Amino acid sequence: MQIDDLKKLPINDDELYFDYDLKKLNWFNIGGKTKVFFKAKSLTGLVNFLKTFKKRGKIFVLGAGSNVLISDDDFNGVVIKLGKNFQNLSILNENLIIAGCGISQKKLSEFSRVNSLTGMEFMSCIPGSVGGGIRMNSGCFDNEFKDVLVSVQCIDFDGSVKMINKNDIKFKYRGSDLSKDLIFLSATFEGKKK
Ligand SMILES: Cc1cc2nc3c(=O)[nH]c(=O)nc-3n(C[C@H](O)[C@H](O)[C@H](O)COP(=O)(O)OP(=O)(O)OC[C@H]3O[C@@H](n4cnc5c(N)ncnc54)[C@H](O)[C@@H]3O)c2cc1C
Repeated sequence: MQIDDLKKLPINDDELYFDYDLKKLNWFNIGGKTKVFFKAKSLTGLVNFLKTFKKRGKIFVLGAGSNVLISDDDFNGVVIKLGKNFQNLSILNENLIIAGCGISQKKLSEFSRVNSLTGMEFMSCIPGSVGGGIRMNSGCFDNEFKDVLVSVQCIDFDGSVKMINKNDIKFKYRGSDLSKDLIFLSATFEGKKK
């Protein structure tokens, strides 16, 4: 993989590392190194990075790393993780929550409780991020992400941002037909007032 032009990228607040130890980034503290690790602090930074990196190698998006087993062999590609600016939570129209995909499912669940909304309690025991939960259609206690998701805002690996409505996604047990070339940025969830 050519990484010289990545080294020249204007980084601003984003973090770009080379030969980064993946042990620090997953729930199980295992695995080898990645050639490049990019922690996006802003959407602009992420767009710039993807446009520069475009089609130069493999990209893996990492959430909290609670559902990945990272190999001891080095990863000859880029691992991308969402930074703090993708961890916002806000409430809209009393029953809709907009969550950054970098925030933990536990925090989203807690936020819905504080706002007297029911439906997201199941997330409190899943040790992953909202982005990972959408990708996996995670669930427990007979509830899954698909039951509360309204729409998801994503960026593709070419740097184009799009919104996908839940009705356009085919969910299955612990997965969906959402393209692998998407990074989920934020999502809207609907709870019931209780
Ligand atoms: C102790 C324990 C208990 C668990 N209990 C449950 C349970 O009850 N129910 C359940 O369903 N799962 C459970 N899991 C599995 C795991 O926590 C979930 O699948 C979780 O939703 C994964 O989220 P993550 O952020 O850790 O994703 P990761 O493990 O980091 O990634 C998982 C997948 O999501 C993709 N991904 C992550 N973030 C994004 C993003 N922003 N955009 C696009 N793709 C993304 C990754 O590329 C990868 O394909 C458990 C795991 C552990 C270790």
